[in-house]
Amino acid sequence: MDNLFELIKLRDYDIELKRLKKEIEKIDSENPNLNEYTIENDSLKSEIDNLNLKLEQLNKEINRLNLILKNSYYNKEDIETKLYNGSVTDLKQLEYLDEELEKHKKEIEDIENLVILNMEELDLTVNKLDAIKIRIEELDKTIGNIINENSIKKFEINEEIENIIDNRKEVIKLLDNDLIDLYEEIRVSKIDFIVKVEGDRCSGCNVILPLSFLDNLNRNIIVRCENCNRMLYK
Ligand SMILES: [Zn+2]
Repeated sequence: MDNLFELIKLRDYDIELKRLKKEIEKIDSENPNLNEYTIENDSLKSEIDNLNLKLEQLNKEINRLNLILKNSYYNKEDIETKLYNGSVTDLKQLEYLDEELEKHKKEIEDIENLVILNMEELDLTVNKLDAIKIRIEELDKTIGNIINENSIKKFEINEEIENIIDNRKEVIKLLDNDLIDLYEEIRVSKIDFIVKVEGDRCSGCNVILPLSFLDNLNRNIIVRCENCNRMLYK
């Protein structure tokens, strides 16, 4: 049976093609680091959005407090002028202005403290943002490298696949169409579709083969196991 050698070759090519295609699929999905890095990158990018929003709010708050401060400084000066330039002589009024001045001083102190707190928070947020940006840069670089390496691996495997496909075409040319059809029909259901006869058994499913099968095999006629449909050879 001259064709048997070609059929086995064809089978081996197809097994190898299947394996290589799986290997390509594995390259991206089975790289846990790539997944991890991508997830970290995404979460850091959304954190940047949050921190930017926070910065905006802090800046707004500081501006608002500074406006209040400006107003308070003005009022304080106004009271001080009235108190010390001698224009007010009424004792009760002077007492009232004195109380007002203290109130304003206290208010100014409170607001100044608030401004300092907000500025400190602003500094912290800016530092956090800088650190995140550095980490994102690192991650982008690492992810880029992994993707590059993966595409090189994929390219190499694809070249191998193309080689096998070319070889496969050459083998197909040597076979009858009927035999190719038969081969394809079995191939869709099983990958180990050409199996050896071991003694009087099909080595694919272990069923005992009828004598007539064995006779045909001895006469180099291609037979298929009635139980599992595989092609048999001795
Ligand atoms: Zn069988």
